[in-house]
Amino acid sequence: MLMALQNELSLLSDLQKELDQRKVDGLLRQRRLLDSPQAEYIVANDKQYLSFCSNDYLGLANHPKLIAAMQNAAGESGVGSGASNLITGHHRYHDELEKKLAKFVGMPAALVFSTGYMANIGVVSALMGRDDAVFCDKLNHACLNDGAILSRANFQRFAHNDVAVLEKLLKASKAKHKLIAVDAVFSMDGDIAPIPDYLRLCEQYDAYLYIDDAHGFGVLGEHGKGSLSHFKLKSPRIIMMATLGKAAGVAGAFVAGEQVVIDYLIQKARSYVYSTPAPPALSATLAASVSLIEQGDDLREHLRHLIQTLKGNLKLKKWQLMPSETAVQPLVVGSNYAAVALSEHLQNQSILVPAIRPPTVPVNTARLRISLSAAHSEQDVIKLAQAINEAEKVLKL
Ligand SMILES: *Cc1c(COP(=O)(O)O)cnc(C)c1O
Repeated sequence: MLMALQNELSLLSDLQKELDQRKVDGLLRQRRLLDSPQAEYIVANDKQYLSFCSNDYLGLANHPKLIAAMQNAAGESGVGSGASNLITGHHRYHDELEKKLAKFVGMPAALVFSTGYMANIGVVSALMGRDDAVFCDKLNHACLNDGAILSRANFQRFAHNDVAVLEKLLKASKAKHKLIAVDAVFSMDGDIAPIPDYLRLCEQYDAYLYIDDAHGFGVLGEHGKGSLSHFKLKSPRIIMMATLGKAAGVAGAFVAGEQVVIDYLIQKARSYVYSTPAPPALSATLAASVSLIEQGDDLREHLRHLIQTLKGNLKLKKWQLMPSETAVQPLVVGSNYAAVALSEHLQNQSILVPAIRPPTVPVNTARLRISLSAAHSEQDVIKLAQAINEAEKVLKL
């Protein structure tokens, strides 16, 4: 009887073993319990910290206008969507947001998804199939890769930002349709993909370009329109996606492109078709957020000033800030141990900066991912830089 029970629970005991091993390896991840809105200071695990952890790049996640917009819209439209968009869940607020986003980024049409993860798996798997090929940068966000795997297309990965290698792959490919799917701004590196080169390759090899602008939307380009605006690119070969839980400060994502692409996705993107949309009130809040982004040149100017302040105040011998002009400023320290020790050292001084380790980043490039926000003051950033300068001296890493 006991034997049988153990056999039946073999999955559970294997799960426990794997968790125990993670703990031994120092890789067990834990959630901090947050008791405040996202802001320059947060309360986590009952303690106040100066935070450089969030992707709230413009400081909109706790904006009074957006809070009011959500309250008002909830009063009018309730809190639930009720059904999928294709049944009765497509509210006027959802529709207005899509039109506003398309107009803002200068694309013919847009479609809103509940999360960026759902957008990427839905879009790539809908557009690509068995006879096609998807080309991904090795440092892409996980969900682009998951979308490629789900599509059953031939899945090829190329070295980070390596246009020459990608060209060889495209040249050799016999796929019916080809999609280059890349992050526009890399989430753990902060650098920008060579998007104009990719578009040139698309034209040359009859491929299409899917750009994930999670970290560029709201931050880069004219009025924060994103990476395509930054490079002044427009083409029917481009499909863009951006998340709305980062600079936009709320939650969700959208895909924008030619009308035929959006029409097709409404029919075929499974994470859209078979899912209840986020509440209409969220769309109304996001519409207000898009207006704040559009009017937010001063926020972006302040953010750029903070980036320069960080660069100007770090005086380091061993550790290195990666070259990045975006709000993501990674500080490479090398070993996993050093990254964790530095992060804990700062945490003891009430400063939160997450340590990022393999497999999220390549071996021996463990880093602190410093993420700056327009919610920070110049003093906040100087305080961080001084704490890191001091840590390099006192920590023998
Ligand atoms: C955060 C992120 C996503 C996922 O978006 P969510 O809305 O958080 O699901 C997708 N791609 C990139 C590059 C991201 O940084």
